[in-house]
Amino acid sequence: MPFCRAKQDRKKGAIMACDFISLAAPGVQKLSPYQPGKPIEELERELGLNDIIKLASNENPLGCSPRVLTAIDSGLGELALYPDGNGFVLKKALADFYDRPLAEVTLGNGSNDILELVGRAFLKPGDEAVFSQHSFAVYPLVVQAVGATGISVPALEWGHDLVAMAAAITDKTRVVFIANPNNPTGTWVEEGELDAFLMAVPENVLVVLDEAYGEYVEPGQLPNGLDFLDRYPNVIVSRTFSKAYGLAALRIGYAFAHPDITNVLNRVRQPFNVNALALRAAVAALADQDFVARSRALNAAGMLQITAGVRALGLDVIPSRGNFLCVHLGRPGLPIYDALLHQGVIVRPVTNYGMPDFLRVTIGTEAENARFLAALKAVL
Ligand SMILES: *Cc1c(COP(=O)(O)O)cnc(C)c1O
Repeated sequence: MPFCRAKQDRKKGAIMACDFISLAAPGVQKLSPYQPGKPIEELERELGLNDIIKLASNENPLGCSPRVLTAIDSGLGELALYPDGNGFVLKKALADFYDRPLAEVTLGNGSNDILELVGRAFLKPGDEAVFSQHSFAVYPLVVQAVGATGISVPALEWGHDLVAMAAAITDKTRVVFIANPNNPTGTWVEEGELDAFLMAVPENVLVVLDEAYGEYVEPGQLPNGLDFLDRYPNVIVSRTFSKAYGLAALRIGYAFAHPDITNVLNRVRQPFNVNALALRAAVAALADQDFVARSRALNAAGMLQITAGVRALGLDVIPSRGNFLCVHLGRPGLPIYDALLHQGVIVRPVTNYGMPDFLRVTIGTEAENARFLAALKAVL
């Protein structure tokens, strides 16, 4: 069969049909792209609605610190210049803030970039990477993209079963991904069980502790991944400015890891993987911890508000330490998701996470939460 052949299409006339998919790397051929939350503009176009609220992507309802806007303003005159490829100022700020060596810091174009760097640097076909069922969809994607094998370990009460995950490690395992708290379930692992897990993991298996929601946790409530770095040199702590800092649009995340791991990650990253405005914005955001504290307080109040409201409707939630909740509907979530869209409320279906009877809702402002609860009541 020829690689390309002309095909008649009723609308477009003759078009070429070619088997380009077969040219893709084996892991890429079977990849299905990440499904993001529906953008507000798209729903506006589709349904002609206005006054839409989006509680679908765990974004910060307070926006970001006003200091960030000033910082971005001051960078606008330099758009023609390449950013500092080493991100020195931000790395220094992070190292100072967390009291860790600068040589442990990697910057990413979002923490998704960090996850991808780990995959590209440390995984090859034949290798295995372990993660939990109902965990972040990006883990299987980065593993599959490089032709490695993802091992999904059955969850325990919707969260990570660290004992089973340790048992799933074989000679082929190179990386383990743990989201703490986990997305989409909001579940968490405690200090003691994480410590026991890290003790059981061979030193040549890397453990990524994805703490994208770490800032939403009250200090002392959950283990701080950075505290493990000195005892377990195979730990990579990944964090982001997308969630509590409210900079999702700018794409900026970071990792702390042993300097030799950091060195390897630095070899595979793009020379200018983080843009100049994001670098400036992140420095300003980090300096405004009052904003983070306000975000945390709003989230804690909203978590109570939505939990109480959902229970008043006779439903329940999975207890969460993120800025989102999984609502157990006890019936298929997709029709409810669609009905909520028609009310102008965008939440997140989690059927693709193996949770067809749930919807994930991001904690919003008090008014947004009330609007979600009223819409949910109306559609049930
Ligand atoms: C949101 C999220 C991220 C962060 O993504 P960015 O690329 O930093 O925007 C990472 N891990 C998990 C589990 C998340 O939910």
